Amino acid sequence: MDKDRQDFLREKARKVRLGIIDALGIGNRGHLGGSMSCADIVAVLYFYKMRHSPEKRGDPDRDRFIMSKGHSVLAQYAALAEAGYFGKELLAATKSLGSLLQGHPERHTPGIEANTGSLGQGLSVGVGMALAGRMDKRDYRVYVLVGDGELAEGQIWEAAMAAGHYALSNLTVIVDMNGVQAMGRTRDRYAIGSIPGRFAAFGWKTFEIDGHDVADIAETLDKAADVRGCPTAIVARTVKGKGVYFAENTHTYHNNLLTAEDREKAIASVTAM
Ligand SMILES: [Mg+2]
Repeated sequence: MDKDRQDFLREKARKVRLGIIDALGIGNRGHLGGSMSCADIVAVLYFYKMRHSPEKRGDPDRDRFIMSKGHSVLAQYAALAEAGYFGKELLAATKSLGSLLQGHPERHTPGIEANTGSLGQGLSVGVGMALAGRMDKRDYRVYVLVGDGELAEGQIWEAAMAAGHYALSNLTVIVDMNGVQAMGRTRDRYAIGSIPGRFAAFGWKTFEIDGHDVADIAETLDKAADVRGCPTAIVARTVKGKGVYFAENTHTYHNNLLTAEDREKAIASVTAM
């Protein structure tokens, strides 16, 4: 990928991160860590890979993105606002009463494809959409972002087994493997061993990438789209809180608030990335 394209995507990812900070506001609890960790992946999906348009939201041929780790929806809201699905001023009203933007994804929000937040369910929704696409003879692709902590949910593996059985090559799951979940290190809370190995065991083709390298993300999404005969899993090594130096690699900011001073530090940290 040429340098101009990489610079463009890095700038989009920075805007996503600044949008997350906007959506979090001051003094409100929210999911900073997991949103920052997937910001580059979400930016590359919306501004490089996916076929989508705010003017054609109901287009049956649009690619679908499901934020299965629904608490990280701040990253998706920021990307949707940047893409023009709604005004950026709405971000600051996230989680306020009556707002279009709530703490977890809901389909009443333009650009949101599935209600998620009960962890483990988004991949099943994605399997259904991928099967529907095949039945309808549509060539859209379905992308599902899951957390590594979320992989402890049994329903994930039922969906993985079904996707393997039905050879859903129009389905790509991306694992935001930041090694941290709400209450601590994933390996301490619920160790599951090799994540690529588990998907491979269910018949998936797997890739491992640096989830903060926009070129690596983009090129691997391209490779995944070329795979035939099986679903694809991209296991992305990431840092929880990436970009906000005091929130990196800790569960402290899984769901926490920023003071006015923290907010200034966070903006400066992201701006300096
Ligand atoms: Mg995690």
